[in-house]
Amino acid sequence: MPAVYVDDLSTLPKIPTAAILPGVVERRAVDIVDAPRMLEGEGFEVRRAFSGVDLRLVGPFLLLDHLGAVEYSPGEAKGAPDHPHRGFETVTYMMDGELEHRDSNGGGGLITDGATQWMTAGAGIVHSEMPTEKIVTKGGLFHGVQLWVNLPRADKWAPPRYQDLEADRATLLASEDGGAIVRLIAGELVGQRGPGSTRTPITYAHASLSPGARLQVPWPAHFNALVYVLAGRGTVGPDRRPINEGQLAVLGRGDVVTVFSDAKQDNGQPHLEVLLLGGSPIKEQVAWYGPFVMNTRDEIKQAIEDYRAGRMGSIPAKRLEE
Ligand code: MN
Repeated sequence: MPAVYVDDLSTLPKIPTAAILPGVVERRAVDIVDAPRMLEGEGFEVRRAFSGVDLRLVGPFLLLDHLGAVEYSPGEAKGAPDHPHRGFETVTYMMDGELEHRDSNGGGGLITDGATQWMTAGAGIVHSEMPTEKIVTKGGLFHGVQLWVNLPRADKWAPPRYQDLEADRATLLASEDGGAIVRLIAGELVGQRGPGSTRTPITYAHASLSPGARLQVPWPAHFNALVYVLAGRGTVGPDRRPINEGQLAVLGRGDVVTVFSDAKQDNGQPHLEVLLLGGSPIKEQVAWYGPFVMNTRDEIKQAIEDYRAGRMGSIPAKRLEE
């Protein structure tokens, strides 16, 4: 897993284990759901982690798609050719493999090796998200996630913007027991900030826990709190509810999130890999149709018309040098 890793975790800032003082509440899993598998784009499989979960429990997030991990055979890798977005942000974190991005502003680039691309679609953009030629022809390992972050009404018409967050910009922290590394992509944990700039308060992190490790982090009481398992097995909360790969734990109210890695992991699986995420819900009406997320049905109709009329642009033909 090329997501950034550090051999000696003792060199990293430590997350002190929260003293569970009277009045401090460890968040309990109120629901554990299996992410259903579905097909996206040209027909690649994702696990859609928030599917069927009440949006109020995941806000300000809208969707979390887990791609892989999958070992593609030559000719097998597929992507999402030209399509529009308006009214929210897509945040793509690639742990293995290479995703090539192109858009209607003439922008493009590679997302790979633990990098995150934070795309504010805002008023509207057309883009494509495809595995590179190399992965299509030769095959290879592919593992990533795409998170959709809603925008408040005032920001839905913001000009499109990218943040290319290379892997070495993630803020690294270690658990108190030294058994877990946390890569903070956005938001704040124990006074440290991740590199992503967000429109509303959120925390987004990828943690790897060695077998038997415990990760305990303070979490703002007004944030939703979610734990999604990318790989491995463990437990969550004070009552140690089991969580496995492809499962989402929706946590209830409280101040502290605790994740434990099982002492025995499956063969070839060195860590429990989880995403820790949450934020302050945006308390506005949501009108959602495919790649458009607005506040009203009229705004959705307008988005469809604008896209059909070419007002979100189109991806320029291949550059001359290609
Ligand atoms: Mn897209």
